[in-house]
Amino acid sequence: MLAAEGLVALVRAYNPKTNSNRILDAYAFGQEMHEGQLRHSGDPYFAHPVAVAAILTEQRLDDATIMTALLHDTIEDTKTSYSEIAKRFGEEVAMLVDGVTKLTNLKSSRHETKQAENFRKLFIAMSKDLRVILVKLADRLHNMRTIKALDSQKQIKKSRETMEIYAPLAGRMGMQWMREELEDLAFRVLNPEGRQSIMRRFIRLQKDSGDIINHITGDMQMELEKASIRADVFGRAKKPYSIWRKMQEKEQGFSRLSDIYGFRVVTATDAECYATLGTIHRRWRAVPGRFKDYISQPKSNGYRSIHTTVSGRDGKLVEVQIRSQAMHDVAETGVAAHWAYRDGVRAENPFAVDPVKWISSLNEQFEGRDDHDEFLEAVKLEMYSDKVFCFTPKGDVIKLPRGATLIDFAFAIHTRIGSAAVGAKVDSVRAPLWTRLRNGQAVEIITAEGQTPQTSWLEVAITGKARAAIRRALREMNRGRFIRLGRELARAAFEHIGRKLTDKVLDTAAKHLRIENRDALLAQLGSAEITAHDVVTAVYSNIALENQDEISPRAAVIGLRHGQSFERATCCAPLPGERIIGITHRGKGVIVHAIDCDLLSQYEDQPKRWVDLHWQAGVHPPIYSTTLDITIGNDAGVLGRICTLIGEKKANISNLNFIDRKPDFYRMMIDIQLRDIEQLLSLMVALEADSDVSALERYRKTPRGQQSWNSHD
Ligand code: MN
Repeated sequence: MLAAEGLVALVRAYNPKTNSNRILDAYAFGQEMHEGQLRHSGDPYFAHPVAVAAILTEQRLDDATIMTALLHDTIEDTKTSYSEIAKRFGEEVAMLVDGVTKLTNLKSSRHETKQAENFRKLFIAMSKDLRVILVKLADRLHNMRTIKALDSQKQIKKSRETMEIYAPLAGRMGMQWMREELEDLAFRVLNPEGRQSIMRRFIRLQKDSGDIINHITGDMQMELEKASIRADVFGRAKKPYSIWRKMQEKEQGFSRLSDIYGFRVVTATDAECYATLGTIHRRWRAVPGRFKDYISQPKSNGYRSIHTTVSGRDGKLVEVQIRSQAMHDVAETGVAAHWAYRDGVRAENPFAVDPVKWISSLNEQFEGRDDHDEFLEAVKLEMYSDKVFCFTPKGDVIKLPRGATLIDFAFAIHTRIGSAAVGAKVDSVRAPLWTRLRNGQAVEIITAEGQTPQTSWLEVAITGKARAAIRRALREMNRGRFIRLGRELARAAFEHIGRKLTDKVLDTAAKHLRIENRDALLAQLGSAEITAHDVVTAVYSNIALENQDEISPRAAVIGLRHGQSFERATCCAPLPGERIIGITHRGKGVIVHAIDCDLLSQYEDQPKRWVDLHWQAGVHPPIYSTTLDITIGNDAGVLGRICTLIGEKKANISNLNFIDRKPDFYRMMIDIQLRDIEQLLSLMVALEADSDVSALERYRKTPRGQQSWNSHD
């Protein structure tokens, strides 16, 4: 354990004007308060606050911060109080110690409803003074460095917290070295095999390619000397965790140099940064899309640097950061640079961010709005950028991506809760399910039996878990609907040929069509993947033979010359009983159009091609296809009823396509086969009489993209 004098010496090294008596007092008081307490490792407890204080001297922090470190666990773990600390060491130190205590509580009450309240305290404390966070981060860093003394369950819990909260926090505040060390310590606990495999491959790579760092730094140093730039070049291997994360993100192997080594050029002056960039780009080829200029556009925590990636030895990519010494100091210490001392005075680094201003820049966005919670939320979003933390009624934390809604929250708790959700209470107030979550909210999901996921939920859910669960439920519900519809279609089709629909018939059809079972067959029929005609002919393949006494299709039209063949035009699809005209086509015979077909105007100047035709009187076979454009209400059974009606009119549904599905309406195209225009008209009259049919038209493909129209006589 570092002695009091040793600690004072560390402070005096960067701040000769330190009030060493106050630090010695805090040391003595802390030691006295923690007397007799031991750490898990068996060391005296006070060794911990001293180590935390020592970490903070590396950041060259002021006396108040060092004293806070020494006292940071006294309010929480010893018999002393806020007022006693305030009396002995002043309000500033007492306030800082109290702030750290609140952050400590945040961790210990993980499963209590107080959590939301503590979260707010965290940020209020932070907005008062960022030094609280600096002490808390140093505290966490020392605890992570000594984590092996804990049992494995606690190690995992602490490491997760470190990965999720403290490491990103350190990064956010601009302390990259601390972020990396915290991540790596947590990575050791959370994924030792992953870390080991990175280390092993790393060693192999070094064996294969020699001392890459020395080669490259040597090359760069030489180029810079040639250009008379005063700069130091540093190379380093990245931490295993950051290599591992890059590999996960890009799903690629352990090969790219730029993901493994990082190089840094620290120049004496700002102007030399751009000169260095020029020199490096002249010597090595720059990789497009990898250049970032954080000097002209610094990050909000004060970070300034130029980042570029160049093609180095053997075409391997090398990442380079270029910055001046002053920029480098800020990059290492982040917002802590504001309090840092150098040679006995507050180091006035022009690039250091004033933490008060950093906070108030967030505050400005909400000026004029007296909404404290919104302010807090903005601070938190700034800190955790892409995450939002909310709480269950029991106080459990649910972490979701930013923009997540109450639906996402419900599914994050449990699929069962999500599926049955009908509403929610946010901080005890009713809120609709599409409400976006904000940090720190307490959410209670209200469920109802029999509720099922809605299609519209897909538009408000953003998490993969919720979306997958909603899709699965919708698919299952649709399948039920398609099976019911398929059964109606099949029944109508079989009745049409005078047969009864039985399960045995369906089983036979399924077998012939190589579909796994009868429900799958009905589902395919209901979703128009197969037609009723397919099903009927699968069972009765000789069905065509049953219509012997009808007019043969070949003799259906009168007026053709001997040997002339004919075809129904697909544009107007005329039916027996409608007035028709033929147009001769070389090689194709005669195409039969309805007399009012728009396409006929194209042949007005070719009278020789016109052939007078009329349909054969008598009973035609039901083979003439036509299409109905129909819109019906989406109520249980409507679709089935429509299909039954078509069946009763002895027409055959050959295909069915949904062209629009709204929650309350379906619009679809039904292809039907029938005998003649009379049958069609009587069918349309019957359909229009149904109260659930809201629109009905015979669909005809017309030239020049015109709307479909009814035959008008
Ligand atoms: Mn501590």
